[in-house]
Amino acid sequence: MNDKPHRISRRSFIKSAGAAGIGSALAPLVGHKQARAATPAEATDITAVPTRPFGRSGIHVPILSLGGMFDIPSNQTMLKQAIRWGVTYWDTAHTYSGGHSEEGIGQYFKNYPDHREKIFLVTKSKPGSHRQMSKNLTTSLKRMNTDHIDLFFAHGVRDADTMDSGMREWAAEQKAEGKIRLFGFSTHSNMEQCLLDAARLDWIDGIMMTYNFRLMHEEKMKTAVKACVDAGIGLTAMKTQGGGTVDTKTSRELKLAGRFVKKGFTDKQAKLKAVWENPQISALCSQMPTMSILMANIAAAVDRTMLTDNDRQHLDRYARETFSHYCAGCTQICQSTIAENVPVGDVMRYLMYARSYGDVNDARRRFAAIPDALRKKMTRANYAAAEARCPRQLPIARLMIEALEDLA
Ligand code: SF4
Repeated sequence: MNDKPHRISRRSFIKSAGAAGIGSALAPLVGHKQARAATPAEATDITAVPTRPFGRSGIHVPILSLGGMFDIPSNQTMLKQAIRWGVTYWDTAHTYSGGHSEEGIGQYFKNYPDHREKIFLVTKSKPGSHRQMSKNLTTSLKRMNTDHIDLFFAHGVRDADTMDSGMREWAAEQKAEGKIRLFGFSTHSNMEQCLLDAARLDWIDGIMMTYNFRLMHEEKMKTAVKACVDAGIGLTAMKTQGGGTVDTKTSRELKLAGRFVKKGFTDKQAKLKAVWENPQISALCSQMPTMSILMANIAAAVDRTMLTDNDRQHLDRYARETFSHYCAGCTQICQSTIAENVPVGDVMRYLMYARSYGDVNDARRRFAAIPDALRKKMTRANYAAAEARCPRQLPIARLMIEALEDLA
């Protein structure tokens, strides 16, 4: 992949984006009252989506990664535009959209084979048997019309025990065969411990973890991130909007959004900026299922205005006020207290997809994958001990019932 910054003109960005509403995505940032005004040079020659080094790999990646959990076959034009604007880090998974995500990327590379080398391509497979992982990798390569994956993740790791010597050998074999360049894992459960444990290994190249304005200032997360950076592991943040699990159409959200709109940001752009302000994070991965979201995120990435101390304080206050609306994925605390083995962390995440992202269909599809017997146990499980231990005082029992009502 070309590790030099990708340059486009602001004029061509706005012109290309006009029909899809870039005016509303970019103009507020340009017109930000407290922002430094763009110089004439900047107005005609901006750097589209800056890049950062990815761990010790020697590769530079754009700070914005295109999350591929959407209908990619029907959004081929968007992929082309993403490349034009420097969003050349694409993230997908063997399971996304039942395989259509990878197939859509494959369709794109079939049409534009010379674009493959521009892309830092990530896919993932559940960390099952090595035979199954090899099978999934072969399928992913075939679906995406490529002979290699730039970064391959074991998907959804909950503890670093999964990264055992067998996994190490498997990853080394795939690298030796040229099927993958880098190896690591993604995690949205017990992220801090996973990161700390991975930092003690010398063969993990990259990690994608839940990381946002709610979690990034906690001491354990700061320590874990530093340990990985010191170990040369490239970090990609995901779930950066810090969406809540509890249904909250409250005045707090409106107040926060109103504050940033007045300043020229959307609250969503401000949350992205908060993550980018930590240079230890190489990139953040965002689901961008529409051109307008892609543009809004690019506008936030190319805008050089920093959040002010006041902005950060508002985000902090909002995080405190909604502390008990957000499941932090610390399943090692609650899961073991529930005899029925209910996947609390997963269900909380599906609720977040439905309630915070508004992606009810995807949440239902994921919820449907929980075995029937386990879903039945959800109604009669005893959550009292889990609720007592939950540091965020989430009403776990009520939320499990709500998931059954809303997502089944
Ligand atoms: S329910 Fe509470 S303890 Fe369990 S993962 Fe979520 S925040 Fe952590």
